[in-house]
Amino acid sequence: MDIHIFNTLTRQKEAFKPLKAGEMSMYQCGPTVYDTPHIGNYRTFVMDDVVRRVFEYNAYRVTQVMNATDVDDKTIKRSKQEGVTLQALTRKYEQMFLEELESLNILLPHHFIRATDYIQAMIDLVSALLEKGAAYAAEDGIYLSISKVKDYGALAHLNIKDPSKERVANDEYDKEDPRDFAVWKFRSAEDGDVSWDAPFGAGRPGWHIECSAMAMSVLGTTLDIHTGGTDLIFPHHTNEIAQSEAATGKQFVRYWIHGGFMNVSDEKMAKSKGNFIKLGDMIEESVSPLAYRYWLLTSHYRSQVNFTYEAVRSAQNALIRLMKEIGRYPAGGAVISAYKERFNAYINDDLNTPQAIALVWELLKDAAQSDADKKATLLDFDAVFGLKLASVPPFEEEPVPPEVQALADAREEARKAKDWTQADALRKEIEERGFELNDTPDGVKIRGRF
Ligand SMILES: [Zn+2]
Repeated sequence: MDIHIFNTLTRQKEAFKPLKAGEMSMYQCGPTVYDTPHIGNYRTFVMDDVVRRVFEYNAYRVTQVMNATDVDDKTIKRSKQEGVTLQALTRKYEQMFLEELESLNILLPHHFIRATDYIQAMIDLVSALLEKGAAYAAEDGIYLSISKVKDYGALAHLNIKDPSKERVANDEYDKEDPRDFAVWKFRSAEDGDVSWDAPFGAGRPGWHIECSAMAMSVLGTTLDIHTGGTDLIFPHHTNEIAQSEAATGKQFVRYWIHGGFMNVSDEKMAKSKGNFIKLGDMIEESVSPLAYRYWLLTSHYRSQVNFTYEAVRSAQNALIRLMKEIGRYPAGGAVISAYKERFNAYINDDLNTPQAIALVWELLKDAAQSDADKKATLLDFDAVFGLKLASVPPFEEEPVPPEVQALADAREEARKAKDWTQADALRKEIEERGFELNDTPDGVKIRGRF
């Protein structure tokens, strides 16, 4: 079964064709380790994880690379503010990031690499760009000349007829204003001792060149998949393509996958608005990271989502119900092939996790399937969901207290006497005590409610 994914480059859903049969290589822009990511960043990291899991579910051998940006404008600025070395700052946040990945059950990428460990690859790439005449030296650094790049801006669908001759030293700038950008920044007072020797002048890499160099160092000149948030399409990914392709003359990435934006209570997340939510904030509000993950799966990765505590709490309740059902089911069943086929079709259709989650609830309600088979099937699905369903402990039924049993017996009597009003009233009373009645072929069962 082909995997179809929406490719930002062509703005179309395409059948994935790997470079090497049975293999998939992917690169994702990792965190800038000067702070902990907000939940919008983690939406993208969960998406990356699901991409990997979907390919592995389809028996691909995946090589996943994620970087940590441990040298750039932001990290240098923050280390100076905090009065610590760049390394002390970035290692601290890198460690926190890894712990948060684990809490979200995001699989550790096969290669989790630091920009500062790939400086030589960046220097080599800048040298290649200079040799090819695609980059030039200016007063404060080496710049990529966007007029020398074929189809500059194609990913962002920019239509540039007359490329600007202006330059931009900062790593972040506006889509309306594409310019030549810095691939190498010469040593400056601002950067302090953050500097490496290079044949074209001591200094440090620009942010964009870092990802190109790291991705190609590990995965080769052409990658199957590159992912990131929509906000990275311009300038970051646009510039990654420009530098890489100008240096190698080959296509850099075959499929670009971008995750949608996240609002918080219908507003854009921004520091100035004070609505930046971190995983730690959510935990303080008694929402588990796995519940957040479940909530993310209920929306398509490309759709814009609106985070509210109400929404994520209701997702948490659903996840708890799912876990309790699984905890009750016995082991030893078999995966139900009709469900597996449908599940596979959904996830292979541009990662349609909302449909896959809906299928879970359909399966739970399906009286024709045995509990053991349901469990085996759900655990199989969880290879993609990553909700740790296999580690749900067996759920112990709460013993039914004698007074609840007495109410249930009284209800049976009322039913036999066709006194439906009384039977309903008794059922309600049982529910108020935290139990529910299930009419099964073997008679009425009483169990704890959740
Ligand atoms: Zn990147």
